[in-house]
Amino acid sequence: MHDVIVVGGRCAGSPLAMLLARRGHRVLVLERAAFPRDTVSTHYVQPSGLVRLARWGLLEPLLASGCPPVTEAVWWFAEDLVVRGFAPPMEGVSMALAPRRTVLDALLADAARQAGAQVRERCSVRGLLRDASGRVRGVRYRDEHGREAEAHADLVVGADGRNSLVARETGAAEYHRRPPLTVVYYAYWRGLPPERRNRNEVFLAGDKQIGVIPTHDDAYLVQVARPHAFYPEYRSDVEGHYHRALEEAAPSLARELAGARRLERFRGTADLPNFYRRPYGPGWALVGDAGYHKDPLTGQGISDAWRDAELLADALDQVRGGTPREEAMAGYERARNAASEAVYEFTCEAAGFDLDPMTRRLVEVLASHQEDADRFFGMIAGTVSAGTFFSPENLLAMLGRLPAGSFTPVTTGPEETR
Ligand SMILES: Cc1cc2nc3c(=O)[nH]c(=O)nc-3n(C[C@H](O)[C@H](O)[C@H](O)COP(=O)(O)OP(=O)(O)OC[C@H]3O[C@@H](n4cnc5c(N)ncnc54)[C@H](O)[C@@H]3O)c2cc1C
Repeated sequence: MHDVIVVGGRCAGSPLAMLLARRGHRVLVLERAAFPRDTVSTHYVQPSGLVRLARWGLLEPLLASGCPPVTEAVWWFAEDLVVRGFAPPMEGVSMALAPRRTVLDALLADAARQAGAQVRERCSVRGLLRDASGRVRGVRYRDEHGREAEAHADLVVGADGRNSLVARETGAAEYHRRPPLTVVYYAYWRGLPPERRNRNEVFLAGDKQIGVIPTHDDAYLVQVARPHAFYPEYRSDVEGHYHRALEEAAPSLARELAGARRLERFRGTADLPNFYRRPYGPGWALVGDAGYHKDPLTGQGISDAWRDAELLADALDQVRGGTPREEAMAGYERARNAASEAVYEFTCEAAGFDLDPMTRRLVEVLASHQEDADRFFGMIAGTVSAGTFFSPENLLAMLGRLPAGSFTPVTTGPEETR
């Protein structure tokens, strides 16, 4: 009998298992894959995520794996509209990283094991076990030898990704759902100019978004995102569509790639829904993408999974300390949502590829005011409160920094005209 069974052992599952095991919970992780194993995901990890890795003692080992620190962001909104800067530091961390998932996920699973969790790879969970009252009590799974087996626990956590079996079997309620907004394909390249080594560069041109991030082994991940409606066209000729979009949206980068070597096949997906799920019920909980998924365009998923693993571990610790389970788990859901909702809205906006006139004016401010630019990157990085950044006071203050006469605020009510 375990205290907690965690289904899935990547970004959400392994850190949750590690945190719980460090606090003395008996944890079993069942993971279908065998690490190191890649997954379809780009992997820009925000500074706020690295703050958590540092707290857990895992940032140093990740850096030692040879992953280059990212210390500069350059976002092209048009040829003459570029925002440069970097997020303000948080707890001494002033970088992002884009580690290969083969490296990162294996490191997280090892950390869970070292903390005392039992992490079993090649184990595929097939269903949930319930008692007579319907409360979840464990799982049915196929083990690493292909045998059918059962495991029992006080709590089963679905850390099993956006198509979560635990969410499906428990009927976890969804809310704030938006349809998929983008389709993304990416590939790894070697041979780009060395000045890109510590830079995250993004090109936004109409309905194309290009991202370049440096990763292990002198390689660069170059991704091309398009609106979801382009999926059939894109999928029918990934390589052609990818290069045409690059030539149109980022011709200088396209020229660099012409002299570089592609290292692996193209990967990508259009299975990118946006939703929250109620993350708990009798005998079960959800963490990571299983409980909250959004378009990857703003690179939040990994850092969010780590934040939510910490929040859930805290809630489960409270339950062990005597707090009623409903109260602790409702607190987990509230904290997750409060920490993510403003960036969720921003992500859905950004993934809509629509730079409306007001947003364009704000971008002009970012391009000409370094402090605003850094705070913008900090909002995405999680080192500046998104609620504060998007507050009407801050947005109005930013618009006020435009040259006189270039912006006329629209007045909509008596408060504004007084
Ligand atoms: C194209 C793309 C680009 C992205 N880019 C970024 C980015 O740049 N930065 C960022 O922060 N995030 C990015 N993300 C999001 C990021 O990949 C996810 O948010 C993150 O992986 C969530 O971690 P997770 O552990 O919740 O889920 P997952 O990484 O999906 O892991 C779930 C695990 O559960 C296992 N599993 C599933 N079902 C079972 C079962 N029945 N039994 C046993 N095991 C099971 C799977 O094998 C898997 O290993 C991107 C995602 C995509 C699709």
